[in-house]
Amino acid sequence: MPIPTEPVGSLPRPAKLQAAIADYDAGKITQAELKAEQDAACKDSIERMEATGAPVISDGEQRASSFATYPLADTLAGTGLADNLAGDGQYFAIFTDGHHRQLPRLTGGPFKYKTYAADYLKEAVKMADKPLKQAVIAPSMLSLLYPLDGEIEGYTREQFMEDLVDECEKDIRKCFEAGAQRVSIDFTEGRLACRNDPNNPWTGRGMLEEFITLNNRVLDRFTPEERVNIGIHTCPGGDCDSTHSADVDYAELLPSMFKMNAGYFLIQLASETDKERVYKLLGEHSREDANGVPQVCFIGVTNPQNPRVETPEEVRDDLVLASKYIPVERLGSTDDCGFSPFSIDLKPKHGSPDFARDVAFKKIESRVKGTQMASEELSVA
Ligand SMILES: [Zn+2]
Repeated sequence: MPIPTEPVGSLPRPAKLQAAIADYDAGKITQAELKAEQDAACKDSIERMEATGAPVISDGEQRASSFATYPLADTLAGTGLADNLAGDGQYFAIFTDGHHRQLPRLTGGPFKYKTYAADYLKEAVKMADKPLKQAVIAPSMLSLLYPLDGEIEGYTREQFMEDLVDECEKDIRKCFEAGAQRVSIDFTEGRLACRNDPNNPWTGRGMLEEFITLNNRVLDRFTPEERVNIGIHTCPGGDCDSTHSADVDYAELLPSMFKMNAGYFLIQLASETDKERVYKLLGEHSREDANGVPQVCFIGVTNPQNPRVETPEEVRDDLVLASKYIPVERLGSTDDCGFSPFSIDLKPKHGSPDFARDVAFKKIESRVKGTQMASEELSVA
């Protein structure tokens, strides 16, 4: 079987769509007018991703407010916030360029998603000829909606966690029902949990193990056959061409991360300074049998934060080197992260979101070609 390759999920939203979102937030256009722009952006994303030759594609998350907030609000500015939420939650990430992103705050129960990822996927399926993947948010990220200290009156933390696990399971099941071939869970908070940033209180609380246990509560509701197609994505964040936890050593994260009983992992790697060391760690810590599924390691071979397009040869060489440490039947390739996990992203190192879209499709094409070349070189094509 050739080496599999899969995107994380997002693409930069066209400048026109980002302007429409601002107009919608300002009450200048209707939801139907916004949807027309989202439809156009999804169609363009799907057609261009299919043209790269990629075996699995996504809709570029063009309808989502962000990878983390799509279940909670229609736009990143908070328009259409779900029930029992207020806008002023904790920072889930402070990025190295100084900007931050904030979560809403839970004010009461029960906790319910307003939008499921499958609501977007159903629209994408109508536009696509190739198999689609869908990314969903991890319960560990949404657990940060509950205040860090204290308890919400009439809604205990444990009640919230139970509702959250139910909602995350439902989010994943609905994706498969809508036709997703693969579903990956975004787990960017995993590496950040090791950061201990005094400006961002939750990161200093040693929450990684708690996150792993919580995510396994969702994964354990799926059979091994289902979990073959349920993945986890790890990265140091990616927003406005900046990261939030690239300085955290992977050695702190990976032994815990592979305790999650997922069938595959999408792992940022192209932008690591010592890739070979990380390949070795992946070989050491990924498991042949994670409660009935082998853990396939999809290594990042393109960097969405950098406009330079990797060549297919570079992609091939990364995979061939990684195969020294990771068995080839448990090796895959991916992009380091989504190309724009947040809807409003001007992609400053690229100059514009529209140019960044052009670059993204070139990078995906290199990933696909280079992965094919590696399959040939490793005699698995
Ligand atoms: Zn990411």
